[in-house]
Amino acid sequence: MAGCAASIALARKGRRVTLIEREPTPRHKVCGEFLSGEALEDLHALGIDVASLGAVPIDCVRLAAARRAAEAPLPFPAASLTRKALDTALIAEAIAAGVRVERGRSVQALGRTASGMWKATLNDGATFEAPTVFLATGKQDLRGYTRPEDPQRWVAFKMYFRLGSAQAAELARASELMLYPGGYGGIQPVEGGIANLCCVVQQRYLAHVGHRWESFLAKMQQDCPHLAMRLAGAEPLLAKPIAITHIPYGYIRPTTENGLYCIGDQAAVIPSFTGDGISIALHTARCAVAAYVAAEPAPVFQAKLRSALLTQMRLAEFAADGLNNSLARAVLPFCLRVWPGVMRVTAKLTRVAHRAAVAPMQSPAAI
Ligand SMILES: Cc1cc2nc3c(=O)[nH]c(=O)nc-3n(C[C@H](O)[C@H](O)[C@H](O)COP(=O)(O)OP(=O)(O)OC[C@H]3O[C@@H](n4cnc5c(N)ncnc54)[C@H](O)[C@@H]3O)c2cc1C
Repeated sequence: MAGCAASIALARKGRRVTLIEREPTPRHKVCGEFLSGEALEDLHALGIDVASLGAVPIDCVRLAAARRAAEAPLPFPAASLTRKALDTALIAEAIAAGVRVERGRSVQALGRTASGMWKATLNDGATFEAPTVFLATGKQDLRGYTRPEDPQRWVAFKMYFRLGSAQAAELARASELMLYPGGYGGIQPVEGGIANLCCVVQQRYLAHVGHRWESFLAKMQQDCPHLAMRLAGAEPLLAKPIAITHIPYGYIRPTTENGLYCIGDQAAVIPSFTGDGISIALHTARCAVAAYVAAEPAPVFQAKLRSALLTQMRLAEFAADGLNNSLARAVLPFCLRVWPGVMRVTAKLTRVAHRAAVAPMQSPAAI
């Protein structure tokens, strides 16, 4: 996401760009696939028309815990689209913009040459040299550029379902957040008349059910009857769920080296319930390109990005802790029923202030 966005923006500014992508073709990724208003704006600016790709408009959010559920309209436009469809469109846009795309090749090591150039060594032994690198490997860390351990040991799963027709009609244009001990999950419609169930859970809770998806799914439904209702008669569409571990929620990269701009999840990892990670990926890519063309040193950019993201990140972490607190879990849907405005305020507060000032220090005349 961030790598494609940065490549497209750089190529459109006439820069020579090589995008190295490990996967030979776009594949399903663990993601709730919620596109916030800011993400939609940035995608539109990149030339991606999500409606033509079949994105489902999302206009309401529901929160369910134990036996209670509450609903509120979303205070911004939103949509939902599979990552596979979105990543396919972004790669195509990058190629159209003139980016040289190397697919099915992964960067194994990143270092400096004696002359100060960056050198990427690929899995097949080939090397690429460039004065500037945008590090956008998402959840995967490159050796030497690792992010800290994830102390909560989160595990995330994604599974597509074809819901029963009555349940699909009830889900309609809503994104539903479900709370259960040790984590939370979301279900929402995506293109093609199917639904995405994406959930996170701390490893110690997964251990209670023998680290098995089937047992975890059954436990989630037991703890959250709303999910059991949605999945009654649903048909799973993947042979097994896609899963990832090591999600350092709350991380913001403190610094970087000259010529190395870190973007997307390599710059900051916001708790998933906010549905803002894609937006941050696109935003950090855009800001990093602006910094680069203004000749702002990467360490200066990274420090400014950190302070621009810090408040919202801490608020999102605070809200995530609340979702994982058993008392809050019990009373939250009840409070929201009484005061749905809480949901709107929470949604706004946990949105990263995308338009926050990360503008480069030098004037455009320096480009
Ligand atoms: C459970 C969960 C649910 C989420 N739900 C949402 C949501 O609903 N809405 C939302 O906005 N955000 C959501 N997010 C966050 C969002 O998925 C990420 O923030 C976003 O994908 C980050 O984009 P990125 O470009 O940094 O990384 P990615 O989109 O993951 O892209 C990284 C790319 O780098 C490639 N790569 C990795 N290593 C190498 C290598 N060594 N060499 C070459 N290529 C490499 C990968 O193949 C991949 O294509 C969720 C995250 C999680 C964990």
